[in-house]
Amino acid sequence: MSSTAHPGPSPSADLLGWTRAELERHLFAHGIKPVHADAVWAGLHRERRTCIESMAAVPPRVRRELAATGVFVGGCEVAREIASSDGHTRKYLLRLRDDEVIETVLMRFDGRMTACISTQVGCAMGCVFCATGQGGFRRNLSAGEIVAQVLHVAGVLAAEGHRLRNIVLMGQGEPLHNYDAVLRAVDILIDQKGVSLAASRITLSTVGLVPGIRRLADEGRTVSLAVSLHGATDAERLALVPIAKRWPLAELMDACRDYTARTGGRIFFEWTLIEDKNDSPAHAAALGRLLAGQKAQVNLIPLNPTEGYDGTPARHAHAKAFQAVLREAGIPSTVRQRRGIDIAAGCGQLAGTERRG
Ligand code: SF4
Repeated sequence: MSSTAHPGPSPSADLLGWTRAELERHLFAHGIKPVHADAVWAGLHRERRTCIESMAAVPPRVRRELAATGVFVGGCEVAREIASSDGHTRKYLLRLRDDEVIETVLMRFDGRMTACISTQVGCAMGCVFCATGQGGFRRNLSAGEIVAQVLHVAGVLAAEGHRLRNIVLMGQGEPLHNYDAVLRAVDILIDQKGVSLAASRITLSTVGLVPGIRRLADEGRTVSLAVSLHGATDAERLALVPIAKRWPLAELMDACRDYTARTGGRIFFEWTLIEDKNDSPAHAAALGRLLAGQKAQVNLIPLNPTEGYDGTPARHAHAKAFQAVLREAGIPSTVRQRRGIDIAAGCGQLAGTERRG
């Protein structure tokens, strides 16, 4: 099947990809009283109904009339579910309407529940150590497909009496390469009559697409921003992140400074620690210089293994030494615990295949 095929109705008719205002306008345009919009919206985003017919709080006549307008509830089906051996991480392989499979991860650490959401099928950025990048790009996800992942995880947690409060757009894909759909999904997810996530608890992770960062600042977006660096010089970064050729560090840092100045927020800088590649005190010192004057927090992530890259994770002692140099430079940092590795659910491991587990 073609990677861009969308059999059946157009994704633009997927109610999960609509804002509440768009739903209200649609009802009005089709002679349905907009007063029913709240019940439909709650059916989609609070009750997580998978079809219009099952929205019990919506009068049957309204359900029939709405369905007759050609809209539908998209969603995805669980193709496979894999739990990590420590029970903290659960990976869902979700099948989309065109049979593409994406991965969504639920992480439970220290009482905090976070969903890691994909934004594309595959990825065009080609970061050398990332399983998604190694597989190439297939297509963008629609806003509805992004929302559907969140609703799936929210449903899993709701069944256990928990509420989903945190999401990270760090799954498969580069969110800023699919800007419109991703930010539309954010708008839908922060709607207070729906999933009602706080924008500050939505972390958008980019490998450094400067125009997208500038657009976030222009639009005054208040999501948390994470920027993956991995190298503090253009040459070192380019060896790991091909897109660095297009947007060199000077441009990227300029956009980051502008973003923090205009939004008032800080930026999380992600650094995958690879033994003998970028894990020495000298690398840490270079990163400290690069981030001087930035409102920054660094997340150090020991490399997670993938089939297509033969690097090894930095040793714990090296990660600690790296962190000490950053501390000296006045830059706060954390060393991420490696979790979900046994089910290939760690950072950079999401391949969108069913070959593991
Ligand atoms: S690390 Fe992110 S941006 Fe880079 S290839 Fe993987 S999914 Fe794409």
